[in-house]
Amino acid sequence: MKRAESRPVRAGTTTIGGGSPIVVQSMCATRTQDVEATAAQASMLHSAGAGLVRIAVDSAKDVAALAEVRARVPEANLVVDLQENYRLAAQVAPHVAKIRYNPGHLYHHEKGRPVRDKVASIAETATRHDCALRIGVNCGSVDPEMAARFDGADPRDLAGVTAMVESALEHCRYLDDLGFERYVVSMKDSDPRKVIEGNRRFAAARPDVPLHLGVTEAGMLPDGVIKTRIAFEQLLSQGIGDTLRVSLTLPFAEKWREVDAGRQIIADVEAGRFRSVPEFLDHGLNIISCPSCSRVENEAFVDLAFKVREMAQFARDFDITIAVMGCRVNGPGETDDADLGLWCGPAAVNLKRGGETVGAFPYDAVLDRLKDELDTLIARKGQPAAR
Ligand code: SF4
Repeated sequence: MKRAESRPVRAGTTTIGGGSPIVVQSMCATRTQDVEATAAQASMLHSAGAGLVRIAVDSAKDVAALAEVRARVPEANLVVDLQENYRLAAQVAPHVAKIRYNPGHLYHHEKGRPVRDKVASIAETATRHDCALRIGVNCGSVDPEMAARFDGADPRDLAGVTAMVESALEHCRYLDDLGFERYVVSMKDSDPRKVIEGNRRFAAARPDVPLHLGVTEAGMLPDGVIKTRIAFEQLLSQGIGDTLRVSLTLPFAEKWREVDAGRQIIADVEAGRFRSVPEFLDHGLNIISCPSCSRVENEAFVDLAFKVREMAQFARDFDITIAVMGCRVNGPGETDDADLGLWCGPAAVNLKRGGETVGAFPYDAVLDRLKDELDTLIARKGQPAAR
């Protein structure tokens, strides 16, 4: 397989880029503070072949749990996913091989402090603790300033791609100016077309920077793997991509399937076995669901995602997108572009119609309300989309 000439970035015992084998990674979905369950899942993912195992950390209690997990599973290369609280970097760095930060979340805390300074503090921490970094941009949560600056720059089906790529390039410049080279970049979306376009543009501009590929909230099996495969086949076959994750909504005990799916896609592309692009991406029901992580507010989320898919089957011929998200961190923003969205809270599920909130409903009542909304939407659309 032709590989782009990215530089090698070491993260623990694994190397990303520089011609190294593509690293498959995954993420724990357990509550980080449940040390027993998180250590077991980290170990399971490592044994399945995950070169990096990501864990979400949002609080000091999560940091304490992370240290425990580190001690129990020393063989795994742990990565921490920082969301809004970038200042936790200093506490997590001693326990991990790599830290991911999201440029779109850096503006939440210390609003008066320049982003460049925040990046400098993360980079300084990473250097001190021998960590690599990932600039992890999500199309659904791009820095609002970037989103405003590049609003309208893309055709409708690629909306947001320019802002996503420009945000990644801006953060590369920040790190380059600091002399920090141990970083990789990811640009993700739930639409494989945006993932392909964004990564192609970035790779052309910065072939030296290793790329982490992923389609966010790809959903459940088998559709989640199909969506991901579409993006990965296009990119890996052009030598773009040094590490990857297949994000699937799975019961906790089956998280290893993410690693398995990633390895299978790489093996197929290397052997020249390509699948055709399925029609459903342009037509019919599209269910987006997050792969869940420690931030899931109620474990009923996974079950709910499966029930939504089952209930919505009657609408499979209609061009409708339903998003099901596990928490308030990404749920509100990432459901905005769906026709109907659900994001889970501890005791209730928030139902949305596009960007508008319909209300919060108990877990055992939300499915009926979603069905009502779906019926109304279908009645408005009339006939299924022509094929
Ligand atoms: S939406 Fe929330 S629970 Fe789901 S993967 Fe993203 S951060 Fe985790």
